[in-house]
Amino acid sequence: MANGRYARQSRFGPLGGGAQDRLAAARVVLIGCGALGTAVANGLVRAGTGHLTIVDRDYVETSNLQRQVLFDESHVADTLPKAIAAARVLGRINSQVAVEPVVVDVHGGNVEGLVAGAGVIVDGTDSMDTRSIINEAAVKLGIPWVYGGVVGSTGMSMTVIPGQTPCLRCVFPRAPAPGSLPTCETAGVIGPAVEAVAAIQTVEAIKLLTGHGAALHGGLVTLDIWAVTMETVPTGAPRPDCPTCQRRAFPGLGTVARQTIALCGRDSMQVATHPPAPVDLAGLAQRLDGLGEVLLTPFLLRFSPAATDRGLTIFPDGRAIVHDTTDAAVARADYARWVGH
Ligand SMILES: [Zn+2]
Repeated sequence: MANGRYARQSRFGPLGGGAQDRLAAARVVLIGCGALGTAVANGLVRAGTGHLTIVDRDYVETSNLQRQVLFDESHVADTLPKAIAAARVLGRINSQVAVEPVVVDVHGGNVEGLVAGAGVIVDGTDSMDTRSIINEAAVKLGIPWVYGGVVGSTGMSMTVIPGQTPCLRCVFPRAPAPGSLPTCETAGVIGPAVEAVAAIQTVEAIKLLTGHGAALHGGLVTLDIWAVTMETVPTGAPRPDCPTCQRRAFPGLGTVARQTIALCGRDSMQVATHPPAPVDLAGLAQRLDGLGEVLLTPFLLRFSPAATDRGLTIFPDGRAIVHDTTDAAVARADYARWVGH
């Protein structure tokens, strides 16, 4: 092992010979680059995972800095998309790794294209809807994926290997009713809980990528970092009646996402058009000039209208985040008024 960068990792016996080369050849797609995503990306890139695609729809805000470990105040000041900010930082951490940022909203119409060719998919989202879509795409394409979720001081993780283990739908047959579960918005979240779950996701991904399937934890891990407790419940075999991994029905794929969705932990709504209708941000900036405050960056346009208190952030794919509202109709009306179509 001529490369001193990984000397300590290589000395860890259970990884075995050849693990570093396997990692260097590996491709991981990370969906969501918030708290879990930044921590997992940090771990995988430092470990030498050869290619990491980071998919995220959002940009960095001050309230992220408490737990999203790759971001700093300069990213907030520059309103950088999270995927772009993460890729820049990761490139400085390990220039031997190829990090590809993708600033889009993941939905049933684009998820297969985003994850195709991945050795492992890692879940960094905060949405059971998006996880359901990832699960369907992973099962359909036969790609292992690692689920993770955090709220408060608690977290969960599960590793899905299509054709071998239960899938997400086997373990959570019904989607929870909206509002029935605590969210980061209602229950908060502390950084150590994120770190604990991200550590499990990262090591499971490394095991998968280096051929250590027998070392996977093989269950549903639940932990509470405040109480410092962790439990792994074996998930057994796939459910024989699972519509996803047994009957192979994938109703979430190929369909369009909802037009307007609330963003977790934020007093904001996302408005999207599907299929995406790209917006010429420079032209839009000219049209909005004089109607309020306009900030144009290479990645987005921030508009604070003089007429309302609600600002908008608009992305080149036509998506917009309408700030300071949780009313979908208000968000759509603002979108129509300022962006058009
Ligand atoms: Zn299943």
